Amino acid sequence: MTHRTTPRTIAGHTVGGDELLLIAGPCTVESRAQLTAAADAVLAAGATMLRGGAYKPRTSPTSFQGLGPEGLELLREARERTGLPIVTECVDPRDVERVAAVADVVQVGARNMQNYTLLTELGRAGMPVVLKRGLSATLAELVSAADYIRNGGSDDVVLCERGIRTFETAYRFTLDILAIPVLKGMTDLPVIVDPSHAAGRRDLVEPLSLAAIAAGADGLIVETHPDPDAAVCDGPQQLHTRDLPAYVARLRDAAAIGGRALTAGSAMVA
Ligand code: PEP
Ligand code: MN
Repeated sequence: MTHRTTPRTIAGHTVGGDELLLIAGPCTVESRAQLTAAADAVLAAGATMLRGGAYKPRTSPTSFQGLGPEGLELLREARERTGLPIVTECVDPRDVERVAAVADVVQVGARNMQNYTLLTELGRAGMPVVLKRGLSATLAELVSAADYIRNGGSDDVVLCERGIRTFETAYRFTLDILAIPVLKGMTDLPVIVDPSHAAGRRDLVEPLSLAAIAAGADGLIVETHPDPDAAVCDGPQQLHTRDLPAYVARLRDAAAIGGRALTAGSAMVA
C-alpha cells in the first residue's frame, strides 16, 4: 500500500518524516514534585515532547478528573524548566482557549473522538492535535473525525492508534497494528501509537512500541511516572522513569532499522 503521509512541522519538530516523534510523561499531572521529576526524566531520556493530562476523561464520574487550571499551570512551568513542548488533553469545547494557551499540541482522547464540537473548535483555534481512535471506531470514522479539525482550520492533525475493544480480556485493549499501514494509505496524516493504554501493563509497552515502529508508525505516546505504584491513575501501565533511558535506546535501534532517527525535544539535550 502506498504511504501518502505528508510531514507536518509541529512545535518545531517534523512529524511524519524521517524523525520518530516520542511523547512521554505521566497519565495525569498530580503535583509539582511529580511533574518536575517526570519532565526532567523525559528530557534526559531524549524524548521529543512532554505529555500529562490536566483534564482527564474518566470512565467513572467519581474518579479523579484532573487538577484542571492548576495542572495547566504546572505544565507551563515544566515547559519553562525543560523546553519540552507540552501535549495535554482538552475534554470540553468550553476549555479550548485555556488549554490552547498552555498546550503546544492538544490531545483528544478516545472517548472524545466523535465530539465534533470539540474537534471543530480545536481546528478554529489553529491547534496541532493528537487525535486518538475511539474504543470502537473504524479507521474511516477516525479519518472523518480528523476532517472536522481540518475543516475547522488546522491541518496539523496526528492520528493515534491506542487499542480497540475486542473479545480478548487478557490485556486492556487490542493494539491494531494493521491500522498503521492502512491509515497511511487512507490519509496524508501522520500516525502514532499509544502502547500504554493498549497494553494496560508496563511489561507490554516495549514489545508493542517496537512492533509499532516496525509497522511504520511516525511516533509513540507513552506514559511514564517517577513512582507508578503511587500514581493517581493508570499506574500499572506507566513506565518507571528510571527505565526510560533503556527503553529509548531500544526505540532508537528499532527506528534505525526503518531508516528513522529519534530527535530530542530540547536544545538543552547534548
Ligand atoms: C490518556 O492518554 O491518558 C487517555 C485517557 O487516553 P485514551 O483517551 O486513549 O484512553
Ligand atoms: Mn492514561
